[in-house]
Amino acid sequence: MTATGTVSARFVLRATEGFTSALRGEKRSWLPMNSSMIVTDPLPRSFWDSVGWAGRETLGDMAHAYMYAQRTADDRIALGGRGVPYKFGSRTDNDGRTAQQTIDQLREILVRFFPASRDVGIAHAWSGVLGVPRDWCSTVELDRVSGLGWAGGYVGSGVTTTNLAGRTLRDLVLRELGSRDGTELTALPWVGHQVRRWEPEPLRWIGVHGMYAAYHAADRQELAGRATTSPIARVADVISGRH
Ligand SMILES: Cc1cc2nc3c(=O)[nH]c(=O)nc-3n(C[C@H](O)[C@H](O)[C@H](O)COP(=O)(O)OP(=O)(O)OC[C@H]3O[C@@H](n4cnc5c(N)ncnc54)[C@H](O)[C@@H]3O)c2cc1C
Repeated sequence: MTATGTVSARFVLRATEGFTSALRGEKRSWLPMNSSMIVTDPLPRSFWDSVGWAGRETLGDMAHAYMYAQRTADDRIALGGRGVPYKFGSRTDNDGRTAQQTIDQLREILVRFFPASRDVGIAHAWSGVLGVPRDWCSTVELDRVSGLGWAGGYVGSGVTTTNLAGRTLRDLVLRELGSRDGTELTALPWVGHQVRRWEPEPLRWIGVHGMYAAYHAADRQELAGRATTSPIARVADVISGRH
């Protein structure tokens, strides 16, 4: 049912990822996790001469609260990371604005990695929402009885996974219509994968914020010279379901 009419179809496929939590009955299915990026103003030749990075490789670190970055075609640095991870009650932002606190955190990471970028302006910041299942594993499903199908829970790796999920859903529908047998895609382990729901609030909010506080604490320990993975991070991994 839409605002202007009713659409009917034998199959309805839902691909709402981090926004799924706004649908009735789905609040605790996939946790809407915020993810943010900043991009600098173009950096001068002198910066690139001192830094190198001539091959424009994408880069990331091995931190628990990790970052990733790339040198853009027009010589900026685009850098992403977590920022404010989650809003109480699985709320998602619709205004597209990025919290100043998040921009400041990402800028701090930028300068830590590239001290010579200290004075560069931040041209733009943006945020989006990821869908995080309780076990951090994606699902593709088609319910034969209702005709409702869905795919998602890609966490931060959906750019290519969505393509595979779309083709998997297509094969499931065609099999159901009898126009195709099962394929190697319909036999993938993510088809019909069952995952338990996230805890109710306020446990969900406390859990996510506690988990990220723990990851930041573990990163600080490891940055200070600890040679092995901090036990704090191991405990946070068990609680978060991320292995
Ligand atoms: C800052 C950031 C950086 C990222 N970097 C990477 C990366 O480097 N590599 C990578 O693989 N992935 C990355 N991701 C994740 C990737 O963007 C997502 O996994 C991917 O976009 C998921 O695609 P999707 O089509 O399933 O969902 P989305 O792209 O989230 O699309 C969901 C759609 O559903 C619509 N919708 C919402 N509610 C409803 C409704 N009620 N009815 C109808 N439609 C609705 C929305 O408008 C939206 O268009 C990043 C995400 C962010 C936010």
